[in-house]
Parts: sequence; C-alpha cells; structure tokens
Amino acid sequence: MQILVVNGGSSSIKFKVFDRGGSGHEEVMGGLLEKIGLSMSTLNVEKNGKKEVFEFPVKTVEEGFATVFKLFTEEDNKKKYGIDKVVAIGHRVVHGLNYSDSVLIDDQVYKVLEDNLDIAPLHNPAALAGIKKAKENFQGLPNVAVFDTSFHQTMPKTAYLYPISLDYFKKYKIRRYGFHGISHQYISYSLVEYLSEDINSFNAITCHLGNGCSMAAIKNGQSIDTTMGFTPLEGLMMGTRSGSIDPAIISYLCQKEGKTVEDVTTELNKKSGLLTIGGSNDMRDIEAKISKDDSNARLAFDMFTSRIKKQIGAYVALLDGDVDALIFSGGIGENDVKSRARICEGLDFCGFEINLDENAERKKGIHKIGPKVYIVPTNEELQICKETIRLSNVY
Ligand code: ADP
Repeated sequence: MQILVVNGGSSSIKFKVFDRGGSGHEEVMGGLLEKIGLSMSTLNVEKNGKKEVFEFPVKTVEEGFATVFKLFTEEDNKKKYGIDKVVAIGHRVVHGLNYSDSVLIDDQVYKVLEDNLDIAPLHNPAALAGIKKAKENFQGLPNVAVFDTSFHQTMPKTAYLYPISLDYFKKYKIRRYGFHGISHQYISYSLVEYLSEDINSFNAITCHLGNGCSMAAIKNGQSIDTTMGFTPLEGLMMGTRSGSIDPAIISYLCQKEGKTVEDVTTELNKKSGLLTIGGSNDMRDIEAKISKDDSNARLAFDMFTSRIKKQIGAYVALLDGDVDALIFSGGIGENDVKSRARICEGLDFCGFEINLDENAERKKGIHKIGPKVYIVPTNEELQICKETIRLSNVY
C-alpha cells in the first residue's frame, strides 16, 4: 500500500510516494514540478535513481496539481512508475491556525482552512488547491493535512503572545505560530530514536537552515519557543527574507521612498537576507564569492551565522542550560561545513564544541560532530507520510 505526499507552493509542487513495507517506509518515486506560471514549466520525475524531465507550460497551481495527479490516475503511468496502490494522500499545509495536530480533511476542516486564507495568503492557497484536486482525482481516498505550525502549538503564552494589545490576538488571531514544525519534530524525534532516548525527557535546540531558516527550543520533546512568528518572516536572517527587524523601519521606509506597506513587505520577504547583503540567496554562491575576497558576501555570512549563534545562547538560557543536543538540518545545516563551524565557534561553554574533522566529513544519515552536536537530515515528506498513516488508519 502506498501513500502519496504532496507539498505545493505558489510556483512549485513537490511529491513523493512511500510504500510501507515490512521494515519501514520505502520511497518508491518522487518528483518536482517547477516554474509554474512561467512560459515553460519543468516536471522532474525520479524513480530508482533514474530521472526524467518533461517541459511544458503550466499556468496555475490548480493545473499543476492536475498534471501531477495524472501521473497517478493514468494506467500507463501507474504501470511505468509502480504507483498503483495509493491508499491515502498527505498534504503539507503551511499554516494550521490553531490545529495542534494533523487532521483528516473533511468538509468542515476544508471550510475552516478556506475561511482563514487571509491569515496565510502566501502559503495556504496552494495547499487548498491540492486538496481540492486530490478529492476530484482520488475519489473516496482519505486526505490528511499536516501543518507546519502544529508542533509549535505547545508554546506557552509567554512565547506565543506579542506584547501588543491583546485585542488584536482576540479579534484577529495575531500571535506567534511558528513554522517548519514538521521538520523540527522530525529531526528531534529521529535523533531520540537513534539515541534510544526518551522523548519525554529530551531537550534540544533544533536549527532548520534552508532557504527559509528557523530554530526551536524543545523541552521534554515539546516546542517551547521558535524563531518564526505570525508569518515565516520573523526570526533569523534567511536566503531572501530579512528575519526580525525593527518594525518602525517599515513606516519610515514608506515615508522616505514613497513605497506602500505591501511593497516593503514584499521586499522584506523576497529581496532581503543573504540575497541583498551578499548578492545571492544561495549559500554555495556566497562562499564562492568569499573565496574571491568579496567583502559583501563575507558580511552576509558573518551576519547570518552570528544571528544563529545569538539565538543558540538565548535558547540555552530558556532551557536553563539543560540541553541534550544541538541539531543542524536543512540545505545549509546539513551541507555547509563552514556555517556550522562558525556558529559553534566559542560555544564550548555550553557544551557545543565540534570536532572539525567530523564536521568536514560528509556522512549519510545522522552524524555526530561534537559531544552534543548532530547533523540530522530532514525528511518532511516522510513525516507527512507517517502522519497520514496515523490519521487515516489505512494500515
Ligand atoms: P528549502 O528551504 O527551499 O527546502 P533547502 O533546505 O534545500 O531549501 O536549502 C537551500 C540552501 O541550502 C541554499 O542556501 C543552498 O545554498 C544551501 N546548500 C545546499 N547544498 C549546499 C552545500 N553543499 N553547501 C552549502 N550550502 C548548501
């Protein structure tokens, strides 16, 4: 029996199929539809290490999902890719409002998500389009929503409320939600399983460093704080996002540059971070530029890593100094030797010294690079698959 996992954004759709065999979950095939809305889109499909690339225009996310689901409903494709046993579909939904767990999607859940689209206008419309198309294409099969926010619903009020009028929280649900929860949960739980520890007494600081970056403080297996807030714009410096800045800058910029609040917000989301300081949102490019003595790229690297280091200090304090593991994950966290080395420099006082040789070595799977420091590759799709099985009771 197979689980199809879809993760749709405004311009791309990632999908994976897992087969639940005797020993666990085996990835059968997967792919990525990219450049939705441009003159030419690309569909990459990978099976058994063999890649195929198709090019054709896909105008909208709805059309994108229809294209992806066709792979699963046409007999020839089913045979070709070995995907004729799909029993449930798991959807990554970025904003889960106040849902503290994944949910089986019925009409009521769909309506709640649809009625609250204004709270997550950048992310949730694509997920809803996916759910709608899945219901049409796979009639009768269960659909499960797995949220990026639910893992952080355990945050206490002190962490999730903003020090602004509580009326805004009551009227408009303005609070810190936190994101990347699927990844923070997956990496902390995977490490606990690997170490044969008890999740209920495990404390960790998790760093998900990809294009989007966030950290979480985990106490007794639960998220008690995270760096992203009402939206994924808050917190660390990221590939194209500024992370936290003084909010007064927005009105000042509008006044000085004659821009609208929307203009500035778009700039903070899409044209800031590593991109504006260092000239690229890709850490590999930043480091290539540093090797050619580019001072802006060096500044971007220093700003990026020092903010993470500062946050580690804050989370050590929040966890009363009792931290079992510092975990790195995401494209940068898993692959970037230099970032990890710089971030951990001088952190011996809280037990986060790393072995530079181990840090430089590329290993598959979970990799210990210091007495309490680990690289844990994330697999959000696998986490969604597990949640889909749990909620839909298909096995
Ligand atoms: P997303 O958040 O979109 O899932 P990823 O987790 O794939 O993003 O992370 C993308 C980031 O990871 C980019 O900044 C990229 O430069 C960085 N990255 C990927 N591979 C490497 C590598 N080998 N060395 C350094 N950085 C890397």
